[in-house]
Amino acid sequence: MGKHVYIETYGCQMNEHDSEQMLRLLEGVFYSETKEAKDADLILINTCSVREKPEHKVYSALGRFKKLKEEKGTIIGVAGCVAQQEGERLLDRIPYLDMVIGTRAIQALPDLVQKVEALGQRVCEIGFDAEEGYLKTPLPQRPLFKVKSYVTIMQGCDHFCSFCIVPYVRGRERSRPSKEIIKEVKDLAEMGVKEVCLLGQNVNGYGKGIGGELGFSELLHQINEVNGIERIRFTTSHPADISEELIQAFPKLNKLCEHIHLPFQSGSNKILKAMRRGYTKESYLEKIDRLKEVCPSIALTADVIVGFPGEEEDDFKQTLDLMERVQFDDLYSFKYSPRKGTKATQFQDRVEEKVKQDRLSVLQEIQKEVTLKKNREIEGRVEEVLVEGQSKQSDRDVTGRTRSNKIVNFEGSLDLVGKMPPIKILKAYPHSLRGEIRSFEFGLPPQ
Ligand code: SAM
Ligand code: SF4
Repeated sequence: MGKHVYIETYGCQMNEHDSEQMLRLLEGVFYSETKEAKDADLILINTCSVREKPEHKVYSALGRFKKLKEEKGTIIGVAGCVAQQEGERLLDRIPYLDMVIGTRAIQALPDLVQKVEALGQRVCEIGFDAEEGYLKTPLPQRPLFKVKSYVTIMQGCDHFCSFCIVPYVRGRERSRPSKEIIKEVKDLAEMGVKEVCLLGQNVNGYGKGIGGELGFSELLHQINEVNGIERIRFTTSHPADISEELIQAFPKLNKLCEHIHLPFQSGSNKILKAMRRGYTKESYLEKIDRLKEVCPSIALTADVIVGFPGEEEDDFKQTLDLMERVQFDDLYSFKYSPRKGTKATQFQDRVEEKVKQDRLSVLQEIQKEVTLKKNREIEGRVEEVLVEGQSKQSDRDVTGRTRSNKIVNFEGSLDLVGKMPPIKILKAYPHSLRGEIRSFEFGLPPQ
Protein backbone atom coordinates (compact mmCIF):
# COMPACT_ATOMS: atom_id res chain seq x y z
CA MET A 1 0.00 0.00 0.00
CA GLY A 2 1.28 3.48 -0.93
CA LYS A 3 1.48 6.36 1.48
CA HIS A 4 -0.94 9.24 1.68
CA VAL A 5 -0.51 12.98 1.86
CA TYR A 6 -3.11 15.49 2.99
CA ILE A 7 -2.56 19.13 2.00
CA GLU A 8 -4.45 22.04 3.54
CA THR A 9 -4.09 25.21 1.47
CA TYR A 10 -4.62 28.82 2.52
CA GLY A 11 -4.31 32.00 0.48
CA CYS A 12 -4.10 32.87 -3.17
CA GLN A 13 -4.05 30.97 -6.49
CA MET A 14 -0.27 30.89 -6.22
CA ASN A 15 -0.57 28.73 -3.13
CA GLU A 16 -3.25 26.52 -4.70
CA HIS A 17 -0.91 25.95 -7.61
CA ASP A 18 2.07 25.29 -5.32
CA SER A 19 -0.01 22.65 -3.51
CA GLU A 20 -0.67 20.93 -6.83
CA GLN A 21 3.05 21.01 -7.57
CA MET A 22 3.78 19.47 -4.19
CA LEU A 23 1.32 16.65 -4.89
CA ARG A 24 2.98 15.93 -8.23
CA LEU A 25 6.45 15.95 -6.70
CA LEU A 26 5.36 13.63 -3.92
CA GLU A 27 3.95 11.14 -6.43
CA GLY A 28 7.61 10.55 -7.31
CA VAL A 29 8.21 9.23 -3.78
CA PHE A 30 5.02 7.14 -3.76
CA TYR A 31 2.58 9.43 -2.02
CA SER A 32 -0.97 9.81 -3.27
CA GLU A 33 -3.47 12.40 -2.12
CA THR A 34 -6.07 11.84 0.56
CA LYS A 35 -8.81 14.32 1.39
CA GLU A 36 -8.88 13.14 5.03
CA ALA A 37 -6.16 14.26 7.41
CA LYS A 38 -6.78 11.23 9.64
CA ASP A 39 -5.79 8.85 6.79
CA ALA A 40 -2.57 10.69 5.99
CA ASP A 41 1.02 9.64 6.63
CA LEU A 42 2.09 13.18 5.78
CA ILE A 43 0.21 16.42 6.44
CA LEU A 44 1.28 19.66 4.76
CA ILE A 45 -0.15 23.05 5.59
CA ASN A 46 0.47 25.48 2.74
CA THR A 47 0.26 28.86 4.40
CA CYS A 48 -0.44 32.50 3.62
CA SER A 49 0.81 35.52 5.57
CA VAL A 50 -0.57 38.30 3.37
CA ARG A 51 -3.06 39.18 6.09
CA GLU A 52 -3.34 38.43 9.78
CA LYS A 53 -6.36 36.12 9.56
CA PRO A 54 -4.90 33.40 7.30
CA GLU A 55 -1.66 33.53 9.29
CA HIS A 56 -3.54 32.72 12.50
CA LYS A 57 -5.27 29.80 10.79
CA VAL A 58 -1.90 28.04 10.51
CA TYR A 59 -1.52 27.80 14.23
CA SER A 60 -5.05 26.54 14.79
CA ALA A 61 -4.54 23.95 12.01
CA LEU A 62 -1.32 22.79 13.68
CA GLY A 63 -3.22 22.47 16.95
CA ARG A 64 -5.80 20.23 15.24
CA PHE A 65 -3.15 17.93 13.82
CA LYS A 66 -1.16 17.54 17.04
CA LYS A 67 -3.36 14.64 18.14
CA LEU A 68 -2.66 12.74 14.89
CA LYS A 69 1.05 13.17 15.45
CA GLU A 70 0.73 11.73 18.97
CA GLU A 71 -1.54 8.85 17.96
CA LYS A 72 0.05 7.65 14.71
CA GLY A 73 3.26 9.59 14.18
CA THR A 74 1.99 11.48 11.14
CA ILE A 75 4.72 13.64 9.58
CA ILE A 76 3.72 17.30 9.69
CA GLY A 77 5.11 20.09 7.51
CA VAL A 78 4.43 23.79 7.02
CA ALA A 79 5.03 25.29 3.58
CA GLY A 80 4.35 28.67 1.94
CA CYS A 81 4.65 32.25 3.13
CA VAL A 82 4.50 31.68 6.90
CA ALA A 83 7.18 28.99 6.55
CA GLN A 84 9.35 31.41 4.58
CA GLN A 85 8.80 34.20 7.10
CA GLU A 86 9.26 32.21 10.31
CA GLY A 87 11.77 29.52 9.28
CA GLU A 88 13.50 27.79 12.22
CA ARG A 89 11.36 29.78 14.68
CA LEU A 90 8.43 27.57 13.66
CA LEU A 91 10.35 24.44 14.61
CA ASP A 92 11.22 26.02 17.98
CA ARG A 93 7.65 27.09 18.61
CA ILE A 94 5.93 23.83 17.54
CA PRO A 95 7.83 20.84 19.00
CA TYR A 96 5.85 18.27 16.97
CA LEU A 97 6.49 19.97 13.63
CA ASP A 98 8.83 18.00 11.31
CA MET A 99 9.32 20.22 8.27
CA VAL A 100 9.44 23.85 7.24
CA ILE A 101 9.46 24.36 3.47
CA GLY A 102 9.97 27.89 2.11
CA THR A 103 8.31 29.36 -0.97
CA ARG A 104 11.27 28.56 -3.22
CA ALA A 105 12.11 25.18 -1.76
CA ILE A 106 9.19 23.19 -3.17
CA GLN A 107 11.47 21.22 -5.50
CA ALA A 108 13.35 19.96 -2.42
CA LEU A 109 10.17 18.52 -0.87
CA PRO A 110 10.71 14.84 -1.84
CA ASP A 111 14.27 14.91 -0.41
CA LEU A 112 13.10 16.60 2.76
CA VAL A 113 10.32 14.06 3.26
CA GLN A 114 12.75 11.20 2.77
CA LYS A 115 15.13 12.75 5.31
CA VAL A 116 12.38 12.94 7.89
CA GLU A 117 11.21 9.37 7.11
CA ALA A 118 14.64 7.75 7.09
CA LEU A 119 16.54 9.72 9.71
CA GLY A 120 13.78 11.15 11.86
CA GLN A 121 15.42 14.57 11.40
CA ARG A 122 13.46 17.82 11.69
CA VAL A 123 14.21 19.92 8.63
CA CYS A 124 13.96 23.54 7.53
CA GLU A 125 14.66 24.73 3.97
CA ILE A 126 13.94 28.39 3.30
CA GLY A 127 16.98 29.62 1.33
CA PHE A 128 16.20 31.98 -1.53
CA ASP A 129 19.54 30.85 -2.98
CA ALA A 130 18.56 27.20 -3.00
CA GLU A 131 16.15 28.14 -5.73
CA GLU A 132 17.64 26.44 -8.80
CA GLY A 133 14.67 25.19 -10.77
CA TYR A 134 12.07 26.38 -8.26
CA LEU A 135 9.86 27.59 -11.08
CA LYS A 136 10.01 24.29 -12.93
CA THR A 137 6.80 22.35 -13.07
CA PRO A 138 7.04 18.61 -12.54
CA LEU A 139 5.12 16.77 -15.23
CA PRO A 140 2.13 14.88 -13.91
CA GLN A 141 2.67 11.14 -13.52
CA ARG A 142 -0.94 10.40 -14.41
CA PRO A 143 -3.66 11.89 -16.63
CA LEU A 144 -4.86 15.22 -15.31
CA PHE A 145 -8.61 15.01 -15.95
CA LYS A 146 -8.67 18.74 -15.71
CA VAL A 147 -10.30 21.33 -17.90
CA LYS A 148 -8.25 24.27 -16.67
CA SER A 149 -4.85 24.69 -15.16
CA TYR A 150 -2.64 27.36 -13.66
CA VAL A 151 0.76 27.95 -15.23
CA THR A 152 3.32 29.91 -13.23
CA ILE A 153 5.09 32.42 -15.46
CA MET A 154 6.90 34.41 -12.81
CA GLN A 155 7.46 34.62 -9.09
CA GLY A 156 8.08 37.37 -6.59
CA CYS A 157 7.48 41.10 -6.78
CA ASP A 158 9.64 44.22 -7.08
CA HIS A 159 6.95 46.72 -6.13
CA PHE A 160 7.27 46.82 -2.35
CA CYS A 161 3.86 48.36 -1.70
CA SER A 162 4.08 49.67 1.86
CA PHE A 163 1.42 47.26 3.22
CA CYS A 164 2.57 44.06 1.52
CA ILE A 165 4.63 41.12 2.71
CA VAL A 166 4.89 39.42 -0.71
CA PRO A 167 8.32 40.73 -1.79
CA TYR A 168 9.74 39.50 1.54
CA VAL A 169 8.25 36.02 1.43
CA ARG A 170 8.30 35.40 -2.35
CA GLY A 171 11.46 37.34 -3.20
CA ARG A 172 12.17 39.61 -6.16
CA GLU A 173 10.58 39.15 -9.59
CA ARG A 174 11.90 36.27 -11.63
CA SER A 175 10.40 35.12 -14.90
CA ARG A 176 10.45 31.62 -16.32
CA PRO A 177 11.96 31.15 -19.77
CA SER A 178 9.14 31.49 -22.30
CA LYS A 179 10.15 28.25 -24.06
CA GLU A 180 9.49 26.33 -20.84
CA ILE A 181 6.14 28.04 -20.39
CA ILE A 182 5.05 27.29 -23.97
CA LYS A 183 6.14 23.68 -23.60
CA GLU A 184 4.13 23.33 -20.41
CA VAL A 185 1.06 24.86 -22.08
CA LYS A 186 1.43 22.43 -25.03
CA ASP A 187 1.80 19.47 -22.65
CA LEU A 188 -1.30 20.57 -20.78
CA ALA A 189 -3.23 20.92 -24.05
CA GLU A 190 -2.25 17.37 -24.98
CA MET A 191 -3.61 16.18 -21.63
CA GLY A 192 -6.97 17.77 -22.42
CA VAL A 193 -6.63 21.11 -20.64
CA LYS A 194 -8.66 23.78 -22.43
CA GLU A 195 -7.99 26.85 -20.32
CA VAL A 196 -4.75 28.16 -18.85
CA CYS A 197 -4.46 30.89 -16.25
CA LEU A 198 -1.00 32.47 -16.25
CA LEU A 199 0.11 33.17 -12.70
CA GLY A 200 2.39 35.73 -11.14
CA GLN A 201 2.22 38.44 -8.46
CA ASN A 202 2.71 41.00 -11.22
CA VAL A 203 2.35 39.32 -14.60
CA ASN A 204 2.93 42.62 -16.38
CA GLY A 205 6.47 42.45 -15.05
CA TYR A 206 7.06 39.25 -17.03
CA GLY A 207 10.40 39.41 -18.84
CA LYS A 208 11.36 42.79 -17.39
CA GLY A 209 13.79 41.67 -14.69
CA ILE A 210 15.62 38.39 -14.28
CA GLY A 211 14.69 35.67 -16.77
CA GLY A 212 12.06 35.57 -19.51
CA GLU A 213 13.14 36.73 -22.98
CA LEU A 214 9.77 38.04 -24.19
CA GLY A 215 7.46 40.74 -22.95
CA PHE A 216 4.15 39.67 -21.42
CA SER A 217 2.05 40.60 -24.46
CA GLU A 218 4.36 38.62 -26.77
CA LEU A 219 4.05 35.65 -24.46
CA LEU A 220 0.26 35.90 -24.68
CA HIS A 221 0.48 36.00 -28.49
CA GLN A 222 2.53 32.79 -28.52
CA ILE A 223 0.21 30.98 -26.14
CA ASN A 224 -2.73 32.04 -28.28
CA GLU A 225 -1.21 29.89 -31.07
CA VAL A 226 -1.15 26.67 -29.04
CA ASN A 227 -3.55 24.12 -30.52
CA GLY A 228 -6.05 22.67 -28.11
CA ILE A 229 -5.99 25.63 -25.70
CA GLU A 230 -9.27 27.49 -26.06
CA ARG A 231 -9.03 30.11 -23.33
CA ILE A 232 -6.30 32.19 -21.72
CA ARG A 233 -6.53 34.15 -18.48
CA PHE A 234 -3.91 35.79 -16.28
CA THR A 235 -3.58 37.13 -12.77
CA THR A 236 -2.52 39.47 -11.21
CA SER A 237 -1.86 42.70 -13.09
CA HIS A 238 -0.49 45.88 -11.56
CA PRO A 239 -2.25 49.05 -12.74
CA ALA A 240 1.04 50.97 -13.04
CA ASP A 241 2.55 48.36 -15.34
CA ILE A 242 -0.36 47.56 -17.62
CA SER A 243 0.76 48.59 -21.10
CA GLU A 244 -1.17 49.77 -24.15
CA GLU A 245 0.18 46.66 -25.88
CA LEU A 246 -1.51 44.46 -23.27
CA ILE A 247 -4.76 46.43 -23.54
CA GLN A 248 -4.64 45.91 -27.32
CA ALA A 249 -4.20 42.17 -26.83
CA PHE A 250 -7.83 41.83 -25.67
CA PRO A 251 -9.45 42.54 -29.05
CA LYS A 252 -6.57 40.92 -30.96
CA LEU A 253 -6.25 37.52 -29.29
CA ASN A 254 -9.30 35.35 -29.79
CA LYS A 255 -8.45 33.04 -26.86
CA LEU A 256 -7.78 35.80 -24.33
CA CYS A 257 -10.90 35.96 -22.15
CA GLU A 258 -12.61 39.29 -21.62
CA HIS A 259 -11.80 39.68 -17.95
CA ILE A 260 -9.08 41.47 -16.03
CA HIS A 261 -8.36 41.54 -12.31
CA LEU A 262 -6.81 44.92 -11.64
CA PRO A 263 -6.44 45.69 -7.92
CA PHE A 264 -6.76 49.40 -7.12
CA GLN A 265 -6.46 49.17 -3.29
CA SER A 266 -7.77 52.71 -2.70
CA GLY A 267 -9.46 55.56 -4.57
CA SER A 268 -7.66 58.27 -2.60
CA ASN A 269 -4.48 59.71 -4.09
CA LYS A 270 -3.17 60.49 -0.60
CA ILE A 271 -3.57 56.84 0.44
CA LEU A 272 -2.27 55.48 -2.89
CA LYS A 273 0.88 57.52 -2.35
CA ALA A 274 1.31 56.23 1.20
CA MET A 275 0.75 52.71 -0.13
CA ARG A 276 3.50 53.34 -2.73
CA ARG A 277 1.30 52.05 -5.50
CA GLY A 278 2.79 54.23 -8.23
CA TYR A 279 -0.47 55.45 -9.83
CA THR A 280 -3.29 57.87 -9.09
CA LYS A 281 -7.04 57.43 -9.07
CA GLU A 282 -7.16 59.36 -12.37
CA SER A 283 -4.51 57.24 -14.11
CA TYR A 284 -6.24 54.05 -12.88
CA LEU A 285 -9.54 55.28 -14.32
CA GLU A 286 -7.81 56.14 -17.60
CA LYS A 287 -6.60 52.54 -17.91
CA ILE A 288 -10.10 51.27 -17.18
CA ASP A 289 -11.56 53.60 -19.81
CA ARG A 290 -9.04 52.34 -22.38
CA LEU A 291 -9.91 48.72 -21.55
CA LYS A 292 -13.64 49.43 -21.91
CA GLU A 293 -12.99 51.30 -25.15
CA VAL A 294 -11.07 48.50 -26.87
CA CYS A 295 -13.09 45.68 -25.30
CA PRO A 296 -16.59 46.86 -24.31
CA SER A 297 -17.62 43.48 -22.91
CA ILE A 298 -14.63 43.24 -20.54
CA ALA A 299 -15.43 42.09 -16.98
CA LEU A 300 -13.53 43.95 -14.27
CA THR A 301 -12.61 42.71 -10.83
CA ALA A 302 -10.19 44.14 -8.26
CA ASP A 303 -8.82 44.11 -4.72
CA VAL A 304 -9.36 46.98 -2.31
CA ILE A 305 -8.14 47.70 1.22
CA VAL A 306 -10.06 49.78 3.77
CA GLY A 307 -8.64 51.29 6.93
CA PHE A 308 -5.07 51.84 5.74
CA PRO A 309 -3.25 54.14 8.23
CA GLY A 310 -4.32 57.75 7.68
CA GLU A 311 -7.51 56.84 5.78
CA GLU A 312 -10.08 59.50 6.63
CA GLU A 313 -13.76 59.59 5.75
CA ASP A 314 -13.04 61.60 2.62
CA ASP A 315 -10.41 59.08 1.47
CA PHE A 316 -12.93 56.30 1.90
CA LYS A 317 -15.47 58.32 -0.11
CA GLN A 318 -12.89 58.50 -2.92
CA THR A 319 -12.73 54.69 -2.87
CA LEU A 320 -16.53 54.48 -3.14
CA ASP A 321 -16.43 57.05 -5.94
CA LEU A 322 -13.91 54.98 -7.89
CA MET A 323 -16.15 51.93 -7.47
CA GLU A 324 -19.16 53.92 -8.64
CA ARG A 325 -17.34 55.01 -11.76
CA VAL A 326 -15.91 51.61 -12.70
CA GLN A 327 -18.86 49.35 -11.78
CA PHE A 328 -16.78 46.26 -10.98
CA ASP A 329 -18.21 42.83 -11.69
CA ASP A 330 -16.78 41.71 -8.37
CA LEU A 331 -14.47 42.98 -5.68
CA TYR A 332 -12.22 41.33 -3.07
CA SER A 333 -12.22 43.69 -0.11
CA PHE A 334 -9.96 43.56 2.93
CA LYS A 335 -9.42 45.41 6.17
CA TYR A 336 -5.83 46.59 6.41
CA SER A 337 -3.76 44.40 8.71
CA PRO A 338 -0.21 45.38 9.65
CA ARG A 339 2.43 42.91 8.41
CA LYS A 340 5.70 42.57 10.27
CA GLY A 341 8.64 44.15 8.41
CA THR A 342 6.58 46.20 5.96
CA LYS A 343 6.90 49.99 5.74
CA ALA A 344 3.28 50.72 6.73
CA THR A 345 3.74 49.24 10.21
CA GLN A 346 5.73 52.41 11.01
CA PHE A 347 2.80 54.67 10.13
CA GLN A 348 1.22 56.18 13.23
CA ASP A 349 -2.33 57.20 12.38
CA ARG A 350 -3.97 53.78 12.62
CA VAL A 351 -7.67 53.48 11.87
CA GLU A 352 -9.81 52.05 14.68
CA GLU A 353 -11.02 48.48 14.19
CA LYS A 354 -14.69 49.50 14.39
CA VAL A 355 -14.22 52.16 11.71
CA LYS A 356 -12.46 49.63 9.47
CA GLN A 357 -15.29 47.15 9.97
CA ASP A 358 -17.98 49.76 9.27
CA ARG A 359 -16.25 50.88 6.08
CA LEU A 360 -15.83 47.30 4.93
CA SER A 361 -19.53 46.60 5.50
CA VAL A 362 -20.62 49.73 3.63
CA LEU A 363 -18.34 48.90 0.70
CA GLN A 364 -19.42 45.25 0.56
CA GLU A 365 -23.12 46.15 0.63
CA ILE A 366 -22.65 48.52 -2.32
CA GLN A 367 -20.62 45.96 -4.27
CA LYS A 368 -23.22 43.22 -3.65
CA GLU A 369 -25.80 45.33 -5.46
CA VAL A 370 -23.46 46.15 -8.33
CA THR A 371 -22.42 42.50 -8.77
CA LEU A 372 -26.06 41.44 -8.95
CA LYS A 373 -26.83 44.26 -11.37
CA LYS A 374 -23.90 43.23 -13.61
CA ASN A 375 -25.04 39.60 -13.50
CA ARG A 376 -28.59 40.65 -14.41
CA GLU A 377 -27.28 42.44 -17.49
CA ILE A 378 -26.46 39.01 -18.93
CA GLU A 379 -29.95 37.57 -18.42
CA GLY A 380 -31.41 36.54 -21.78
CA ARG A 381 -28.02 36.45 -23.49
CA VAL A 382 -26.40 33.32 -24.92
CA GLU A 383 -22.90 32.78 -23.50
CA GLU A 384 -20.12 30.32 -24.33
CA VAL A 385 -19.58 28.27 -21.15
CA LEU A 386 -16.57 26.02 -20.59
CA VAL A 387 -18.00 23.11 -18.61
CA GLU A 388 -15.81 22.14 -15.63
CA GLY A 389 -17.74 19.40 -13.85
CA GLN A 390 -20.70 18.48 -11.70
CA SER A 391 -22.46 21.34 -9.94
CA LYS A 392 -22.30 21.26 -6.14
CA GLN A 393 -25.98 22.19 -5.99
CA SER A 394 -27.52 19.25 -7.84
CA ASP A 395 -26.48 15.93 -9.41
CA ARG A 396 -28.51 16.82 -12.50
CA ASP A 397 -26.54 20.03 -13.08
CA VAL A 398 -23.11 20.78 -14.44
CA THR A 399 -21.13 23.93 -13.82
CA GLY A 400 -18.81 26.07 -15.89
CA ARG A 401 -17.70 29.63 -16.54
CA THR A 402 -18.38 32.27 -19.15
CA ARG A 403 -15.44 33.99 -20.82
CA SER A 404 -16.05 36.82 -18.36
CA ASN A 405 -15.40 34.28 -15.55
CA LYS A 406 -18.94 34.10 -14.21
CA ILE A 407 -20.15 30.78 -12.84
CA VAL A 408 -23.07 29.21 -14.72
CA ASN A 409 -25.04 26.16 -13.58
CA PHE A 410 -27.34 24.30 -15.95
CA GLU A 411 -28.92 20.90 -16.43
CA GLY A 412 -26.66 18.61 -18.43
CA SER A 413 -24.57 15.46 -18.38
CA LEU A 414 -20.92 15.02 -17.46
CA ASP A 415 -20.18 14.27 -21.15
CA LEU A 416 -20.17 18.04 -21.55
CA VAL A 417 -17.06 18.48 -19.35
CA GLY A 418 -14.34 20.18 -21.41
CA LYS A 419 -16.83 21.34 -24.04
CA MET A 420 -18.04 24.90 -24.59
CA PRO A 421 -21.77 24.78 -25.31
CA PRO A 422 -23.79 27.96 -25.89
CA ILE A 423 -25.91 28.55 -22.80
CA LYS A 424 -28.88 30.88 -22.53
CA ILE A 425 -28.69 32.76 -19.22
CA LEU A 426 -32.09 32.53 -17.53
CA LYS A 427 -31.51 33.99 -14.08
CA ALA A 428 -28.82 35.94 -12.26
CA TYR A 429 -27.92 35.38 -8.60
CA PRO A 430 -25.32 37.24 -6.52
CA HIS A 431 -22.62 34.59 -7.05
CA SER A 432 -23.73 32.61 -10.08
CA LEU A 433 -26.01 32.39 -13.09
CA ARG A 434 -28.63 29.82 -14.04
CA GLY A 435 -28.83 28.82 -17.68
CA GLU A 436 -30.02 26.26 -20.19
CA ILE A 437 -28.25 24.60 -23.06
CA ARG A 438 -29.18 26.04 -26.47
CA SER A 439 -27.66 23.93 -29.15
CA PHE A 440 -28.88 20.60 -30.52
CA GLU A 441 -25.25 19.73 -31.08
CA PHE A 442 -24.89 19.52 -27.30
CA GLY A 443 -28.25 17.89 -26.43
CA LEU A 444 -31.82 19.10 -26.11
CA PRO A 445 -32.80 21.83 -23.69
CA PRO A 446 -34.39 20.33 -20.58
CA GLN A 447 -38.21 20.22 -20.55
N1 SAM B 1 0.08 41.27 -6.54
C1 SAM B 1 -1.25 41.61 -6.37
C2 SAM B 1 -1.41 43.12 -6.47
O1 SAM B 1 -0.48 43.85 -6.51
O2 SAM B 1 -2.51 43.56 -6.51
C3 SAM B 1 -1.91 41.03 -5.13
C4 SAM B 1 -1.08 40.59 -4.00
S1 SAM B 1 -1.82 40.17 -2.48
C5 SAM B 1 -1.45 38.45 -2.42
C6 SAM B 1 -3.56 40.10 -2.68
C7 SAM B 1 -4.30 41.22 -2.03
O3 SAM B 1 -4.20 41.16 -0.64
C8 SAM B 1 -3.80 42.62 -2.37
O4 SAM B 1 -4.23 43.06 -3.62
C9 SAM B 1 -4.35 43.45 -1.24
O5 SAM B 1 -5.63 43.94 -1.55
C10 SAM B 1 -4.44 42.45 -0.10
N2 SAM B 1 -3.43 42.73 0.93
C11 SAM B 1 -2.10 42.61 0.83
N3 SAM B 1 -1.50 42.99 1.97
C12 SAM B 1 -2.48 43.36 2.82
C13 SAM B 1 -2.51 43.86 4.15
N4 SAM B 1 -1.40 44.06 4.84
N5 SAM B 1 -3.72 44.11 4.71
C14 SAM B 1 -4.86 43.90 4.02
N6 SAM B 1 -4.90 43.46 2.77
C15 SAM B 1 -3.72 43.19 2.17
FE1 SF4 C 1 2.31 43.10 -2.92
FE2 SF4 C 1 2.31 45.40 -4.25
FE3 SF4 C 1 3.77 43.35 -5.14
FE4 SF4 C 1 1.10 43.23 -5.28
S1 SF4 C 1 2.44 44.70 -6.34
S2 SF4 C 1 2.46 41.63 -4.56
S3 SF4 C 1 0.48 44.31 -3.44
S4 SF4 C 1 4.09 44.45 -3.24
